[in-house]
This record gives sequence, C-alpha cells and structure tokens, in this order.
Amino acid sequence: MTQPSITSQRRDLAAALRLAAKFELNEGICNHFSVALPDGPDGRPRYLINPYGVHWSEMKPSDLLLIDERGQVLEGEGEVEATARNIHIAAHKANPRHVAVLHVHMPYATALTMVEGGRLEMAHQTACRFHGRTLYVDHFGGLALDADEGEAIVAANKAQGDADITFLAHHGVTIGGPSVAVAFDDLYFLERACRQQVLAMSTGRPLRLIPQQEIEATRATAVAVSEAKRADDANTLLESRRADRLRAHDRELCRLAPDLAGCARASDPARDGEPPLRPGDAAGGADPG
Ligand SMILES: [Zn+2]
Repeated sequence: MTQPSITSQRRDLAAALRLAAKFELNEGICNHFSVALPDGPDGRPRYLINPYGVHWSEMKPSDLLLIDERGQVLEGEGEVEATARNIHIAAHKANPRHVAVLHVHMPYATALTMVEGGRLEMAHQTACRFHGRTLYVDHFGGLALDADEGEAIVAANKAQGDADITFLAHHGVTIGGPSVAVAFDDLYFLERACRQQVLAMSTGRPLRLIPQQEIEATRATAVAVSEAKRADDANTLLESRRADRLRAHDRELCRLAPDLAGCARASDPARDGEPPLRPGDAAGGADPG
C-alpha cells in the first residue's frame, strides 16, 4: 500500500476530529488525535497532532501541528498540551503499528473505567470485534502532566502487544490503528459497544454473555474478512472506503453548517492539488456495515 501523503493525513485527521465532535465524543477543547509521519530529513520521528484550544468542530487540516518526538512544534501555530505530548508520543513509541492514536474521554467507554471491575464484556456482537484487543490500565496516576503516565501506558502496551484499545482507569480510552480511518472506525464502534453495555447494565439485570465459542467465531469471521481483503490486495480499497466514509460524514457536516470553519477549504493551503470538498460529492457509501 502506498504511503499516504502528509496532505492526505492532515485532511483525514481534521475530518476525524470534526466527526468526533459531531458525535459528541469530545471533551470541550481537550483530548487529542495524532498520526505518526515518516521520519523527517534529520531521521527523527514526526507527528501531526491537534493544537490545544481549537474546538474539534472547527479543526482545519492547516490547524494541525507538526511536532517532533519531544513535543516541540516544527510547523504550525499553537501549543501542544502536556497531557497530549505525554500520552500520544508514548503510545506511538509503544506500538509503532499504531500510526494513528486517538485519545478521548467519550462518555460510555469512560463510564466503564469508573466502575469497579469495569470491562468491555462480550455481551453484544459489536463488542466481539474488540475481543482480545483490549488492555486495561487500572492504576490512576492523576492528570498526565508528566512523563510518568506516558511511561505507564508504554509499559502496559509492551506487555500486551496485541492490544489496540487501552482503557485508562478514571480517565478515558486510547485507540491505536494503522490509519486514521481504521482507528476512527474502531473509535465509533467502541463507543457504540460501550453504550449498549452501559444501557443493558442500567436495567439492573445481569449481562447475558455470548458463549466463548461464538465470541471466537464472530471475531474469526471479522478477521477472515479483513485478511481476505488484504490477501487480494483489496486492503487499499477497504481503507479507501473507510476514508471515504469519513469524508462523506465530513461533507454532510459541511452541508448542515456551511459556515463552519473548515468547510471553506478550497483555499486551504493544506489541500493544495486536491479538489475542494462540496456537499453531495461523497464517494463510496456511508453504510456502517
Ligand atoms: Zn485524557
């Protein structure tokens, strides 16, 4: 698969942030999404991340900051919040296959980090896609204002290298994926799975868990479909469709609120060489499957 351009990464990351705001997965102006870029000319890691203080609903591709592995801003105007630097750079380093790292305090997933023994239980088919991919950091070290919290995340991720979803006790979740589109797909469905579980738990009746062999079969089916697509070189198409879905939602957001910052992107320098987004020109389907 060809490496996406920085322009494309900026566009997908900004679209993901606006979409997350549309689905009310943001926490005010806090929380961050980041993507690892190929190393810079000096051979050092580089990342794109949203600046502190810009609301996700208004994020433009050109707002995103280019930073180095110490969190120093290389390009862009704005500040990188300390918690973002400590959590995101640590997460990218802990698992290099996580090109995209999305950190949120989205309501239902976070609710599970606040209850005794809170775990994503295999009680709904959507939850099964996360079977064997979750990690729980049950120690709460306070606000991640220093590197210690980042180091705790690194240690936990290295101890369980298969995990893509990290639940942080009393805090929130971090989702890692090979691209912004794939990670956002997991982000969306993780919150749906957690919402279904919290609603079921709110009835006061015990959860009815899916039998182990059905969990395995459901997960295996999902993996088989994904791997088959990779095997016949359709993964590019799969990722393209996921990215198209992101952009389709993004266009819909612009249609609903055309005066929103970020919708007048024809003149955005980050979109050089790409056609402007227009309402109604979405490619691919928005069917969540
Ligand atoms: Zn946080």
